[in-house]
Amino acid sequence: MSARDPDMLEGIPRAPTDRMPLWREDGRTLQINEIFYSIEGEGVRVGQPTTFVRLARCNLRCFFCDTEFDTYTELDIGEILADVGRHPATWVCLTGGEPLGQNIVPLCRKLRSGDYRIHIETNGAIDPDPDLYDLIEHWTVSPKRKSIAGGLRYITELKYVVGKHFVEDMVEEDRARYVYLQPESSKPEYIVKTLDILKRHPAWRLSCRIHKMLDLP
Ligand code: SF4
Repeated sequence: MSARDPDMLEGIPRAPTDRMPLWREDGRTLQINEIFYSIEGEGVRVGQPTTFVRLARCNLRCFFCDTEFDTYTELDIGEILADVGRHPATWVCLTGGEPLGQNIVPLCRKLRSGDYRIHIETNGAIDPDPDLYDLIEHWTVSPKRKSIAGGLRYITELKYVVGKHFVEDMVEEDRARYVYLQPESSKPEYIVKTLDILKRHPAWRLSCRIHKMLDLP
């Protein structure tokens, strides 16, 4: 990592496969870390019952990452749909890892034909397949780099982790309907920093992780 790289956030190294991950294939099978039911705990959709499909692997290696995404089971779309169908939620959230690192278009088509509503959480470093814009209703981008991929045309909400290196100048607020700031690891110094920034940007919002408070998955 070079701290002089203008496209990186200081302290967040990237993997060599960053811009275009090598594991995008035909999408008939996907590498899945876990599928589980919970309540959406963050952002505009907070409180809504949701089935989460965590896709394996990520193109970045953020030092604060607490998500286990390197282990996976290879599942075909029928197996994924069967697992999703066991849960009583109309929303399906594709998360990771980095869900745009795999070809999720076939899965999203099947979910939409089953009347599911689709939410995606991405780190904003990969251009999505344009077909996804007709399929995915809710886009959460949580940038881990200084700029968001130009191919991300529609962003419902931007969610930034506020830590030591966060600066408000990096917020690309014109690209999203909502901006959320989330204090890193809920540390007191970052809560103070976040609240201070919100005084200067009253249209932005504090992101509270409700599922963590309630000890939900
Ligand atoms: S982008 Fe997200 S999942 Fe990937 S390493 Fe960073 S925090 Fe972890």
